[in-house]
Amino acid sequence: MRVLHRFLCFLSFALVTLWAHADQHPDWSTPVKPFQIADNLYYVGSQDLAAFLVTTPQGNILINQNIPSSPLLIRRSVEQLGFRWADTKILLNGQAHSDHMGGTAEIMRETGAKNFVMDGDASVSETGGRTDFAFGPKQQFAPAHVDRVLHDGDTVTLGGIVLTAHKTAGHTRGCTTWTMRVHVPGEPAGKVRDVVIVGGLTVLSEYRLVDKPGRPASYPGIANDFAQTFRTLRALPCDIFLGAHGGYFDMLTKLQQMPQRGGQVWIDPAGYKQAVDDAQQRFDKELAKQQHAG
Ligand SMILES: [Zn+2]
Repeated sequence: MRVLHRFLCFLSFALVTLWAHADQHPDWSTPVKPFQIADNLYYVGSQDLAAFLVTTPQGNILINQNIPSSPLLIRRSVEQLGFRWADTKILLNGQAHSDHMGGTAEIMRETGAKNFVMDGDASVSETGGRTDFAFGPKQQFAPAHVDRVLHDGDTVTLGGIVLTAHKTAGHTRGCTTWTMRVHVPGEPAGKVRDVVIVGGLTVLSEYRLVDKPGRPASYPGIANDFAQTFRTLRALPCDIFLGAHGGYFDMLTKLQQMPQRGGQVWIDPAGYKQAVDDAQQRFDKELAKQQHAG
């Protein structure tokens, strides 16, 4: 029995080590078949790195450009849906981290699209992450010029489509949650649904939420930003719950249910509320821990 126990201990150690040395996020670059969420809203990302295409008669908007290898994956998804890559006119983002902005500069080069970024994230985009409060001053991704700096509550319009930018800072200083109103295929013609695309909610292990002598907070006001973000997200009406990572909105599980339930799987106001509650609980716990430490 003891021998078996030792063997199992060794085996789990070996597996953990192996996993740590393998590609940490294979789901970031594993394609999924692109799919429609609403009349003019499509998923064109990977298994976990979400990218959304908003189509309009005057060209398309692409939310999130992901890692450096993503432009080809996204392009194939866009074309598989029958849209033209060159019709990509505006790039938006949920957060200025390398897993969402790593492909931005390349897509701008390929399509000529304009890059719109929230105020707190604009310099991070333009410096390729060198001004990021947690990961700078080392460059993280190819710098992407910002054509329009957005502010909380700004709208982006194209071809009759309106997207609203909500500053939900903390995860990054300009973390942005996007909302829009859509019609879902199969629902009555006049029925409109509220979409929420969450930018980011997570307190990473690198983040210092509390000012301590000789160990300042990651940036002034980070804890207040997170607290405000949870208030903002709670106030948003949400039918269709989406986010920058598939994991935020349990995408793979919902995808499996799509053959039976169709587009209705994306309508998940309870899941949205739960995700915000869970993230706030994790934040509150981490804040209390950091306040009481040392
Ligand atoms: Zn991030």
